[in-house]
Amino acid sequence: MSTCPHCKGHLTDSHRCPRRPGRVAAELLAAAIAGGVAGLVLVALVDPDRQIVQAESVAILLGALAGVALDRAVRR
Ligand SMILES: [Zn+2]
Repeated sequence: MSTCPHCKGHLTDSHRCPRRPGRVAAELLAAAIAGGVAGLVLVALVDPDRQIVQAESVAILLGALAGVALDRAVRR
């Protein structure tokens, strides 16, 4: 039986590498940051004159939450 190049486990048809907690946390953080940046970009496009009060902080928060939710939905 061959072994997985990533985790050295037995490479069966249904093999999935065990995920390390640190890696999961890093991915969630990256998703949150990406979501926050996306929210900021969206605000810059929608509200270039900065007329919406607190738009940036709300956009970052919602974007981060959306990013984490998306990450969890995609990877499970
Ligand atoms: Zn593996």
